[in-house]
Amino acid sequence: MSAASETSSPLYGTYARADVRFERGEGVWLVAEDGRRYMDFAGGVAVSSLGHGHPHLVEALKSQAEKLWHVSNLYEIPGQQRLGERLTAATFADKAFFTNSGAEALECAIKTARRYHYAKGNPERFRIVTFDGAFHGRTLATIAAGGQPKYLEGFGPKVEGFDQVPFGDWEALNAAIKPETAALLIEPIQGEGGIRVVPREMMRRLREICDREGILLVLDEVQSGTGRSGRLFAHEWSEIRPDIMAVAKGIGGGFPLGVCLATAEAASGMTVGSHGTTYGGNPLAMAVGNAVLDVVLEEGFLENVRDRSLQIKQALASVLDRYPDVVSEIRGEGLLLGVKAVVPNGALIAEMRRHGILGVPAGDNVVRLLPPLVITADEVREGMERLEAAVAAMSASNTAKAG
Ligand SMILES: *Cc1c(COP(=O)(O)O)cnc(C)c1O
Repeated sequence: MSAASETSSPLYGTYARADVRFERGEGVWLVAEDGRRYMDFAGGVAVSSLGHGHPHLVEALKSQAEKLWHVSNLYEIPGQQRLGERLTAATFADKAFFTNSGAEALECAIKTARRYHYAKGNPERFRIVTFDGAFHGRTLATIAAGGQPKYLEGFGPKVEGFDQVPFGDWEALNAAIKPETAALLIEPIQGEGGIRVVPREMMRRLREICDREGILLVLDEVQSGTGRSGRLFAHEWSEIRPDIMAVAKGIGGGFPLGVCLATAEAASGMTVGSHGTTYGGNPLAMAVGNAVLDVVLEEGFLENVRDRSLQIKQALASVLDRYPDVVSEIRGEGLLLGVKAVVPNGALIAEMRRHGILGVPAGDNVVRLLPPLVITADEVREGMERLEAAVAAMSASNTAKAG
């Protein structure tokens, strides 16, 4: 972005945007105003689960747009009933609350956990234990939950009631659980934090600790959910069941949609008037959410995610072997993948963009690869060729600098 456009822009200066303007999308492809085509391995940050312009989603949104957009939650919304039934049938949950975003789904999850203990006669149990490297959104409560100083700085006192412990430090975790603790909150796969997968054994131990202590296990599957990990939800890999789960991003396929799912027991404190939203679960969002689910629940859909994941991991392993001066590690599950960079991750992403492939930066100097879940084997092959060309270019410039 040029200095001139920065000062004259009507927009908040909160983003360092790449200098590219997309005009349309087709499947895994994005087409810029200048006609250049890019392979979208950024996926709108794990949102575009079915790629761009998926005919079933376009049709669902168009036909709903002609009927009814919005009525508010003062009335029954059949699409909510239907999507709620389908999501609870497919998961551990009995109850759903629809939102417009991930942070709002987390806010609902946090409120549900606190309210559960309140309704049980334990209002002092409101604290929530979280893990370092976490990301839960940008509202005041979710930056407190995430605990990252860079997101908290300058926004006044941190919202009370969040205790953060180092990832995998059992002693610290046991010490952090107090009589005031209401819940543990964790991403089964940290996205923003650098694609750190919580080991399955650790997930099972967290479940056991929650059962022993009478606290709730809250999962943030905003990024890892809706098929992204190769299972419908990432926690299924460890065969545990949470009490509450926040979901967003991929479930809307690009339409703003989130949902907080809970067991009937965990949601028992959320009585009439205790929570609300104007837009959440409106007919447009429900039409799209149901259409996303139609496709994700189709036979063979998750199998494709797992197969393409393997294909990418194999291609990346070979890149890692040949360019250890550029990339050093592959992480992740399904199509929630990360490549740890040796060069600055931002520089590698810019080079990838020059080779017509998009990626997303994450913590720990990682480049996230989050292609649409409908990507084909041929498209993965082409994407990996572009990625390798970018890595080779970075390696050549490393060599030039060293020489
Ligand atoms: C993106 C994300 C959020 C926040 O979602 P928004 O829709 O941006 O509010 C929360 N948790 C995780 C794990 C995320 O990846």
